[in-house]
Amino acid sequence: MDAPSTKRGSSLATRILLGLVVGAVVGIALNLLYAPAFGAAKSGAYVEIEWWADKIVKPIGDLFLRLLFMVVVPIVFSSLYLGVAGLGSVGKVGSLGRQTLQWFLATTALAASMGLLLVAVIRPAQHVSPAVAATVQQQYLGQAQAKIAALAEQPKSWMEMVVEIVPDNVVGAAADNKRLLGLIFFALILGAASTRLPTDRSRALRELLETIYDLSVKVLGWAMELAPLGVACLIFHSSAKLGLDVMRLVGWYFVTAMGGLVLYQVVVVTGLAWVFAGLSPTRFYRGCRTLMLTAFSTSSSSATMPTTIRTAVEEFGVPKEIAGFVMPLGATMNMNGTALFEGVSVLFLAQVAGIDLGLGQQLLVVGLAVLTAIGAAGVPGGSLPLIAVVLTQVGVPPEMLALILGVDRLVDMTRTIPNVTSDLVCSLWLSRREGHVLRG
Ligand code: ASP
Repeated sequence: MDAPSTKRGSSLATRILLGLVVGAVVGIALNLLYAPAFGAAKSGAYVEIEWWADKIVKPIGDLFLRLLFMVVVPIVFSSLYLGVAGLGSVGKVGSLGRQTLQWFLATTALAASMGLLLVAVIRPAQHVSPAVAATVQQQYLGQAQAKIAALAEQPKSWMEMVVEIVPDNVVGAAADNKRLLGLIFFALILGAASTRLPTDRSRALRELLETIYDLSVKVLGWAMELAPLGVACLIFHSSAKLGLDVMRLVGWYFVTAMGGLVLYQVVVVTGLAWVFAGLSPTRFYRGCRTLMLTAFSTSSSSATMPTTIRTAVEEFGVPKEIAGFVMPLGATMNMNGTALFEGVSVLFLAQVAGIDLGLGQQLLVVGLAVLTAIGAAGVPGGSLPLIAVVLTQVGVPPEMLALILGVDRLVDMTRTIPNVTSDLVCSLWLSRREGHVLRG
């Protein structure tokens, strides 16, 4: 594996940031100049901009995204197998797994509660008139119905969801980026089994997987060299099509959700890194700039996962077996930002619908937000179909989702940041607990 390279990392982060700024500025400028007012017809110029954004710029961004996704399966499998095998015993894996899950549950529940608290205090729904709500909802109803229809493809009950963790076909599990849990389970079991074989029997596979892991990290490094261009294209596409007008219409919701996510990242995640990993905010953010920019621009924990591993190992000195164990699990199961967003959105939509959720129901929302954040796929908008489940459970019509879809792109990009930084801090905490000295 490459030597630690903070200097190279920092110049990459600067170039990605530059790509992000250029893409956003050009996209927002074109949007401001040419996008139609909310509900109005599109001008010819804007139709042309959309064509360029959809047909030329987005495919270039998608190429970058696909390069990241391309290494997800080899990295998930090799890093988990090697992680578990490297820990040496099933007991050790069990104890690490328990602590990891405790972290995931505690931080996700905290984030969801914080989302509910913010809405209870700010009451963003008070600022949305029924007429505005009806128009916005009408505009995005089709999209909302598509998300709700996507639910039909999701496992129906919690029990089925648990059953689906065990894949009946490993190749099938690996074939779907949205359902990595099956592959994770298989890698965990196989890694655990390897600890029961004599070393000379399991050595060949271990060495092969070490090579696959190193090769994947190398390919990831090449893909990241394209990140400045890929990020510029992804951001341009999103910002040129941003619903700036809708943002104004549901502005209080937008500010509450975005403010909550920023607050969670700046106060909670930074605080956790300080308290549990002993890293000052300056040190922590110096190490995870590229990671945060990747999460923001791809909007996907899964696509970012190889970068999360690389950041933990190369920037902070987390042992490979711990990073390789925590990150694949975290990318699929630990979504703090998503839980906070769910808390904010469900309570906001309930308020708009005039449904007063009592304390018991708010606790139910926290529980469901935790479960759905675990179940959501780490892809752009992965949590949207599941949020419809939570809405239904507390008696809010799921079509109300339409109200927040117009502004979801930016919220999605933002919530993916705490989704991945929480995984990183979990791995830092576990390394420290195991007696490893982090790179300070
Ligand atoms: N985009 C988020 C992620 O990949 C999932 C979501 O909240 O929709 O982490």
